[in-house]
Amino acid sequence: MLRIQTRLPERYTSASPEQLHNWIGQAKATLGESLFILGHHYQRDEVMCWADARGDSFKLSQLASARPQARYIVFCGVHFMAESADILTSDDQTVILPDLNAGCSMADMADLEDVEECWDALDAIVDINRVIPITYMNSSADIKAFVGRHGGAVCTSSNAKAVLTWALERGDKVLFFPDQHLGRNTGFDLGYQAGDMKLWNPRFELGGLEEKDCKEATLLLWKGHCSIHQRFTSQHVADFRQEHPDGLVVVHPECDHSVVEVADSVGSTEHIIAYIAQAAPGSVIGVGTEIHLVNRLNEETLDKIVLTLDPLVCPCATMFRIDAAHLAWILEGLVDGKVRNQIRVAPEIATEAILALERMLQIC
Ligand code: SF4
Repeated sequence: MLRIQTRLPERYTSASPEQLHNWIGQAKATLGESLFILGHHYQRDEVMCWADARGDSFKLSQLASARPQARYIVFCGVHFMAESADILTSDDQTVILPDLNAGCSMADMADLEDVEECWDALDAIVDINRVIPITYMNSSADIKAFVGRHGGAVCTSSNAKAVLTWALERGDKVLFFPDQHLGRNTGFDLGYQAGDMKLWNPRFELGGLEEKDCKEATLLLWKGHCSIHQRFTSQHVADFRQEHPDGLVVVHPECDHSVVEVADSVGSTEHIIAYIAQAAPGSVIGVGTEIHLVNRLNEETLDKIVLTLDPLVCPCATMFRIDAAHLAWILEGLVDGKVRNQIRVAPEIATEAILALERMLQIC
């Protein structure tokens, strides 16, 4: 999806880190209670130090909706997160993304046109009323709206198992997007076998499947992935265990199933944080998730060693787009009465997306 971010004025591009830090601090103090800065766990430290709340995407959106006094919600994360925040907050609140080019490659892998084509193709060969669409939170607002319109629900990495169970009590089949790995790992967790799950590749007719596959599969998994979590391999885990025979391994369910199978624990970002907090003092913990969170956990957990499993440490490039310069530009604009980079979800899309979000909240 193409989004065009305005070039920053030279005041910001040529400023020193100290200047940017001071400008952000002054603007934040001026804006006071009217401003609420949300920081996703994968943000860089120069941004995260200004966050009024830290969390994963859904937790942050909920926190924003619980702060009605905050007129401006500055979401330091990626585009789909700011959309969710706009959907969940009141009409009086303005949600801002500091860099419009901060998208999510996984969310962009499920495009509405492709999803609708898939739905129509399935409609021609199976009872579509028995197919329940489920989308991961990491998807665009129009995909959430599609799911809401067709009786499905959103899920997060914490509640995917409960949401899939709910869906399979209502239908015979789930169409899950955009992350094949979360879908597959949850399917295995629920006791399904590899043969019960088929991969739908939107580049091919009928997703590259035979009619028989579509009819027989319980889970149709969209061919999408997170380029950060897909980097981790079972060899990384084996190497870590060789170096740290008593070490612990915790990974995110966006990792490939071969990695999940050999980890000691698997779960959402919040689960990873809690797992590390509860580990015994002196533990060495190898983590399969984004590097900024891993490094921060290592710095903040003084009695344990927290390491990335991937020696080539790759940050999420789109999260990385949000920096102190963009944050300073946004906040100084607000002080001057200029709202930049507002994220607005059209009311008709928001109404249907809310249906899918509310179903998730009722399930979990
Ligand atoms: S870490 Fe992966 S899923 Fe999360 S924003 Fe980056 S690309 Fe998207």
